Amino acid sequence: MKIAIAGAGMSGAYLFRRLIDEGYKDIDLFDVKKTNSCGCRPCAWGFAPVAETFELIAKVTDPARFEMQRSDVISFDGVDVRSSNMLTMNKPALIREMIGHAEVKEGAIDPTKYDRVIDATGVSRAYLPPIKDDHIAQCTQYRVRSEQALGFWFRTSTVGYEWCFPLGGDEYHIGIGSLKSDVRSYRPSTDKDDRELSVKVQCKCHSSVRLTSPFFSQPFMKDNVVGIGESIGAVAPLASDGNLYAMQCGEMLMENWEDLDRYSEQVLKRYDWMRKERRGLEKLMEGRTPSLPEALTMRGHLKSVGVEIKTGQIIRLLRNMSR
Ligand SMILES: Cc1cc2nc3c(=O)[nH]c(=O)nc-3n(C[C@H](O)[C@H](O)[C@H](O)COP(=O)(O)OP(=O)(O)OC[C@H]3O[C@@H](n4cnc5c(N)ncnc54)[C@H](O)[C@@H]3O)c2cc1C
Repeated sequence: MKIAIAGAGMSGAYLFRRLIDEGYKDIDLFDVKKTNSCGCRPCAWGFAPVAETFELIAKVTDPARFEMQRSDVISFDGVDVRSSNMLTMNKPALIREMIGHAEVKEGAIDPTKYDRVIDATGVSRAYLPPIKDDHIAQCTQYRVRSEQALGFWFRTSTVGYEWCFPLGGDEYHIGIGSLKSDVRSYRPSTDKDDRELSVKVQCKCHSSVRLTSPFFSQPFMKDNVVGIGESIGAVAPLASDGNLYAMQCGEMLMENWEDLDRYSEQVLKRYDWMRKERRGLEKLMEGRTPSLPEALTMRGHLKSVGVEIKTGQIIRLLRNMSR
């Protein structure tokens, strides 16, 4: 079987390595030229929950080699919350490891030359039909050094949030994403307690993230093309994490390689909670606060990644995001 994988990001590189390890030999991997210094866009360092992340990465390599930092506490709008299940990992290095010595080709794929084409192109969704109600948030992020310990925090803003992820040592990944505000001129200026920040910028880039949910990102297939990861909306619409789901999609596709209808059904079933979260996101975009069931869906998601946040606090965060 001749296979093309479009996109050597989290989902494409993972599926590539899994297929190679399963004995598939005729696979061409494609990506576009990257101009940012880490060679990975989006770099996105947060992974959770730890056990499932490790279990999936262990299918392709030793996850411990890529671990950067775990944190017991995350601050949400200045309030500390216990967190037991989240870590940062060196995603650019992990992707390089999964690709190994394989050639990453550039240029457009001719799907007629392959038995199967995998669309793992993330936000681009280059080989599947466009999505009607696509919600794409714009992001600006920095990798910085700081002499001062900055911690792990999120700060909500208009239909989006600012984040600071510790990368180990004195390094941090700080950024902002929003569906409404123009974030291109963002610069990290204050810490979680609104004190002035003094950081040394190592690199900066812009990127975007699809918050549409799988349900609204259909179809997942067209002719011999099938999508995985963010190309089919496998990203939490409110929290915007997608690294784990990129790998999960790869696994679901492996399990249902001969039955793509079953693959689609499994994706829709597993990520039905994202469809519910998206309803909350749409309310935020209209300047309204999500309903209690929508807030509880988000709370359930955060709980599944080890963040024990109270319902009242979730509602306060969402209210702030709706302003
Ligand atoms: C700023 C930011 C921060 C994030 N932080 C986190 C986080 O901390 N934790 C988390 O879990 N998730 C995070 N996410 C989401 C997460 O990064 C994505 O959900 C995940 O990377 C999706 O994996 P993917 O392989 O489907 O897509 P991507 O990782 O986006 O990979 C798509 C690949 O396709 C390539 N490509 C694009 N067009 C084409 C084309 N025409 N032909 C060939 N290749 C193409 C791209 O160059 C890229 O390499 C973040 C997203 C952003 C934007």
